[in-house]
Amino acid sequence: MQYDVIIGLEVHAELKTKSKCFCSCKNEYGSSPNSNCCPVCVGLPGALPVLNKYAVEQTIKAGLALGFEINPIAIFERKNYFYPDLAKAYQISQLEKPICVNGHLKVFDKNIPINRIHLEEDAGKLVHSGNETFVDYNRGGVPLIELVTDALKEPHIETADEAIEFLTKLRQIYIYSGVADCELEKGQMRADVNISLRPKGSNRFGTKVEMKNLMGFRSIHSAIEYEIARQKEILDDGGKIEQETRKWDFEKGESYTMRTKENAEDYRYFPDPDLLAVKISADDIERIKKSLPPLPEQIKNKYMQEYGLSEYDTDVLLADKSIADFYEQCITVYPQPKSVANWFTTEILARIKGGAGLGIDKKNLVWLIKAVDEKKIQRLTAKEFLADIWGKDYDAEAEAKKRGIMADLSSDFVFNILDKVMAEKQAVVEQFKREKDEKILNFLVGQVMKETRGKANAQEVMEKLKEKLIQGE
Ligand SMILES: [Zn+2]
Repeated sequence: MQYDVIIGLEVHAELKTKSKCFCSCKNEYGSSPNSNCCPVCVGLPGALPVLNKYAVEQTIKAGLALGFEINPIAIFERKNYFYPDLAKAYQISQLEKPICVNGHLKVFDKNIPINRIHLEEDAGKLVHSGNETFVDYNRGGVPLIELVTDALKEPHIETADEAIEFLTKLRQIYIYSGVADCELEKGQMRADVNISLRPKGSNRFGTKVEMKNLMGFRSIHSAIEYEIARQKEILDDGGKIEQETRKWDFEKGESYTMRTKENAEDYRYFPDPDLLAVKISADDIERIKKSLPPLPEQIKNKYMQEYGLSEYDTDVLLADKSIADFYEQCITVYPQPKSVANWFTTEILARIKGGAGLGIDKKNLVWLIKAVDEKKIQRLTAKEFLADIWGKDYDAEAEAKKRGIMADLSSDFVFNILDKVMAEKQAVVEQFKREKDEKILNFLVGQVMKETRGKANAQEVMEKLKEKLIQGE
């Protein structure tokens, strides 16, 4: 049978703030276990939470970047459940009145409706080691935004590719707007995915299966494809889908049942009596809107329309904000966006992706690109030179001069070599004069280039050689 697939996403991202959401402990990744904790974030009796206003502003910023409406009053609620990584047995979250409602994100040609973004606190982390399990509460209380797509509205996310495109774009918007770093390997962005199938054309929803805490886009993609295939098989065999939460096993590439049935009622949400409702004024929203930095879509338009870059090059540059920032810095010094982009999308990215890090500064890189554009260095020579000075503390100009790789076109250098080659290859010169064959000319250019050891520009050698040969007639 043919099925419609409906995929819902709940995406958690840790906000970039100095301190936690309801106390002044540091929001810092990688500190020694349980060093960033206090009575509030581990929930000791009598400890009172104080809302981090900046975390609220960051949430509003995320919402505005995605075109959300901002609720004038937002409420914090307690979501009650027990788990060892949650010392106080409830998580401060938002249910009825989240900060942001009704947003959208364009994924390929679909404008995917998003229900909400709310602010909550993260839980601690269980660390398993051999037969023992430890708990680290450093992450407990870190501000987290949860975004929930609206699978009740059309259009739906229907494939693993669309889900990954959604997450990729969302991550980019969070990073560019400065609300979150979303480093996947640090677990700063995680997704819960729910999937249901229904016979094609039906308007009733099928039973949802949820997969929790997926990390890494590749495993999310595999987990979605696996789950769609699993449900199809059950339905084709006339079976029924159980409402359940499944855990994805990255190693095995399959999922297994974690728990069945879970509804909002199970958490017995109620307004947190220790926290006042948050009032968000139109002035606040306006001020935060003004503070939004350029977003990927705007930058993309600028690169394509003002800089004349291709869509492909633009996407490649924007995929990593630190690269895009470095690119912008380079073209403020040397405003040749296409020429600079060309180096970025080839040499620079290849070196960074090879794990070499960003091993060149703006001054040296711009000098090198300019020298090639002005034909002072051969492109190929420049590429080899770049590889050589990458990650080292050279002054590119001084080093290039020291190594004698600069082209020497102004002096008699090339002419002398030209004369020498023409004298040595007289028979070939004569043959060219008779036959006017391009191949012969190329051969002579090659000979000259060899003699100059790459210090001349092949195009100019060609022109000078032509001049000479025609003059000589
Ligand atoms: Zn604390």
